[in-house]
Amino acid sequence: MKADTDVIVIGGGFFGMYIAEFYAQQGKKVILFEKEQDFMQHASFANQARVHNGYHYPRSILTALRSRVSFPRFVDEFKDCIDNSFEKYYMIGRLLSNVTAKQFELFCQRIGVPCTLASRKITSLVNPNLIEATFSTVEYAFDAVKLKLAMLDRLEHAGVDYRLGVCVNKITQAGTNLTVETLSVANDSENESFSANQVLNCTYSMINDVLTKSQLEPVALKHEMTEMCLVEAPDELKDKGITVMCGPFFSIMPFPSERLHSFSHVRYTPHFQWIDSKDSPYINGHNYSSNIEKKSNWNRMLLDAKRYMPILDQCQYKKSIWEVKTVLPRSESNDARPILFKPNHGLLGLHSVMGGKIDNVYDITLELSKHEKYLTSI
Ligand SMILES: Cc1cc2nc3c(=O)[nH]c(=O)nc-3n(C[C@H](O)[C@H](O)[C@H](O)COP(=O)(O)OP(=O)(O)OC[C@H]3O[C@@H](n4cnc5c(N)ncnc54)[C@H](O)[C@@H]3O)c2cc1C
Repeated sequence: MKADTDVIVIGGGFFGMYIAEFYAQQGKKVILFEKEQDFMQHASFANQARVHNGYHYPRSILTALRSRVSFPRFVDEFKDCIDNSFEKYYMIGRLLSNVTAKQFELFCQRIGVPCTLASRKITSLVNPNLIEATFSTVEYAFDAVKLKLAMLDRLEHAGVDYRLGVCVNKITQAGTNLTVETLSVANDSENESFSANQVLNCTYSMINDVLTKSQLEPVALKHEMTEMCLVEAPDELKDKGITVMCGPFFSIMPFPSERLHSFSHVRYTPHFQWIDSKDSPYINGHNYSSNIEKKSNWNRMLLDAKRYMPILDQCQYKKSIWEVKTVLPRSESNDARPILFKPNHGLLGLHSVMGGKIDNVYDITLELSKHEKYLTSI
């Protein structure tokens, strides 16, 4: 039987929007479902807004090199959404760091990114007993609200049929097609069902929600309940971003969509964590996140960070944004950010995909292209 549509994309975060457009540009009929009333309300908004250029991954050369390659492409493709107006510094912690200054410099040379010793203007702001070296680097931030509007424009241009406030509840096989059952979030008696040749599960922290509701085996994913603090930076730091590497340190950098700085700390940003597995009851991260009491770790973050840079004491805390951060459990040892690509996971034509950082979208579309080629060759 002919399906209602070629492709259904579940999840209107940056990945779902980009992937929906990717298929529509190939002439496919695409429907995109997002359960919230607007696009990019979860991880694609509530993150650190860093456009990675490789510096962050001295322990995973592959992730560093992939970031290095994707950086100019992302910056060029989304130039109107990029803030490149600030100076970016990477500092190396003297104690507890997994890299030394020398190792970091060599690593930057190896991946081919600019890295020079910073001027006194910035080093005079740091505690030399705790910071071994400060490097001037090139890294930018993205404006998630501008990115959303740009992607919305592109979806409309590509002719994607999108539905907001619609949650996908279940996927089942119907011959060679898939049946997708949806529920209107505003009116839960409004159920609909659609058939498609292929379904892309782009729901990030909720990938296993869709899978378990469809009685399919969950993927091993690790989730962290994270708190990103947004602050007004002191005047001396307004046009700067700082990341201390590589261990239990902190980062402060522009968060363009709110005209503030994000402040995160490796030790205090994650509040707690859990792992999805087929042997434990499933936890719905979004429901959990909206129901728990949220107690900020801002004071702890600041107390630690101002030991490294006393000027941080002048930051004015504004608010925190909370989100479930999801990574593959195997990334834990080296902080790598490989993509998740599970083609035909549980059902023929159902593909679950996830990227650990925004520019991973290029790695995913590459895999989808290869998969598409493979399908047309059989
Ligand atoms: C705290 C934090 C900091 C980060 N920092 C950075 C950074 O600095 N730089 C970087 O590149 N990356 C960063 N990341 C990673 C980056 O945010 C993610 O890789 C990216 O946003 C994932 O996009 P997505 O579209 O897959 O997920 P999301 O934006 O979460 O989108 C998934 C969408 O699916 C929808 N959905 C879920 N279930 C259903 C359903 N059943 N039916 C319909 N819709 C559904 C959700 O409502 C959501 O809108 C960070 C992430 C976090 C959490």
